[in-house]
Amino acid sequence: MTGTDTTWEYAPAPQEQGIVAIKPHYGLFVNGEFAPATDGRTFSTLNPATEEPLAEVALAGEADVDRAVRAARTAFDRVWGPMPGAQRAKYIYRIARLLAERAREFAVLESLDNGKPIKESRDVDVPLASAHFFYHAGWADKLEYAGYGSTPVGVAGQVIPWNFPLLMAAWKLAPALAAGNTCVLKPAETTPLTALLLAEVCQQAGLPEGVVNIVTGAGETGAALVGHPDVDKVAFTGSTEVGKEILRSAAGTGKKLTMELGGKAANVVFEDAPMEGAVEGIVNGIFFNQGHVCCAGSRLLVQESVADALLDRLRRRLGTLRLGDPLDKNTDIGAINSRQQLDKIRELSDSGEAEGAHRWSPPCQLPERGYWFAPTVFTGVSQSHRIAREEIFGPVLSVLTFRTPEEAVAKANNTPYGLSAGVWTEKGSRILWLAQRLRAGVVWANTYNRFDPASPFGGYRESGFGREGGRHGLEAYLNA
Ligand code: NDP
Repeated sequence: MTGTDTTWEYAPAPQEQGIVAIKPHYGLFVNGEFAPATDGRTFSTLNPATEEPLAEVALAGEADVDRAVRAARTAFDRVWGPMPGAQRAKYIYRIARLLAERAREFAVLESLDNGKPIKESRDVDVPLASAHFFYHAGWADKLEYAGYGSTPVGVAGQVIPWNFPLLMAAWKLAPALAAGNTCVLKPAETTPLTALLLAEVCQQAGLPEGVVNIVTGAGETGAALVGHPDVDKVAFTGSTEVGKEILRSAAGTGKKLTMELGGKAANVVFEDAPMEGAVEGIVNGIFFNQGHVCCAGSRLLVQESVADALLDRLRRRLGTLRLGDPLDKNTDIGAINSRQQLDKIRELSDSGEAEGAHRWSPPCQLPERGYWFAPTVFTGVSQSHRIAREEIFGPVLSVLTFRTPEEAVAKANNTPYGLSAGVWTEKGSRILWLAQRLRAGVVWANTYNRFDPASPFGGYRESGFGREGGRHGLEAYLNA
């Protein structure tokens, strides 16, 4: 820091990478063993911060998916289904403990494969994933008290996205296993590595073969899995578009379904809100995980009387965010996960300018290699703009204003989605008033992006249906 200048220079603080041994090749995890795809096909996964390949991964075709589903069926019929809940719990506790023990390894691998800052993978993704297994291990012998019946559904086909690869795997596997189901999980094409390390943890925990199977690949692998006739339950997290496709293909099959899809959440700030806290909540709401968050607070609704003052503070705060190497412990904003996603963010941001909104980013040098996008704020946004309606899934905030609480509710609900919302105000009565009127599965008050395994999460309308987490999350995996 120099003179009256308040800008700090940060020395690099790189996380040591030697803790992870990335293999050149990864196989599919089927029936307790790693094996290549039947036809030998592979794909590469790369580090989005450098565009360098990390590993070659087996590409599962229909025959591999079929093998995995058959392994899961056998394990369900012979071992996992009949096993007493208290016994199942022991395995799930072991997985939770091993995840905690190997936390740094998982965090580094996640940041390498996904591009997210190490402080987020280390402090959020991995601890929450472990907590999810701990929480659900506790349910395994108490299912009769959940109120949904205690019979498992059978074989679960689970498809997850790239934004929280390990955490989404935990959200899918932990409740399914606790309830006595067996699983075939398909991670996203761009982020398969932590799911495969989790497969190693399943081996280390002595989990009986076939209880968890991991098939890597792209959309076609996912389609083969959810369309497999012997899958009893489909759990999907991803885009609304693919969610709708899956719903169409599953119609009439009798499969149990849960869908966790997109969002366009409103983060509503009233004039009496604690401003410093609100600014932190706005930053966390949209810039956490590069905005690759289905419940991101991507629409800021701020009361007109305080809009200018709040935006001044927000711009100052954004000037202090550090973008760059995901493995640097000081980094706040990491890399965009893929070229495809970067193109989508660019296209939607350009549309914001073309439609007349005002675009602003803090001075920010982007690394030359890799996929990067500066934190961006649009003001002068109207409800008809694409950036106010479509999920951008990137570090881009659209700011709208309101005058009355009724107007805030109308604008917040003016979206086909309904996953989450935030409210910032000093008045408890106003929080309750608003929470009753916002059509969102989760409403955070004077905070944002808080997660707990005991708390159900999920949306309605085009954000999907069904809940994950808490007692409610077990419903999807139990038959009456
Ligand atoms: P997708 O919905 O395409 O992908 C989610 C998962 O589904 C991935 O594992 C994907 O495989 C798989 N998949 C793709 N097509 C099919 C299919 N026909 N049947 C079964 N599974 C399939 O999301 P994207 O990763 O392409 O992201 C696109 C947009 O979706 C993002 O820009 C964002 O707006 C939104 N999104 C929302 C998420 C949320 O949590 N709500 C999470 C991720 C994305 P593969 O990755 O290999 O293609």
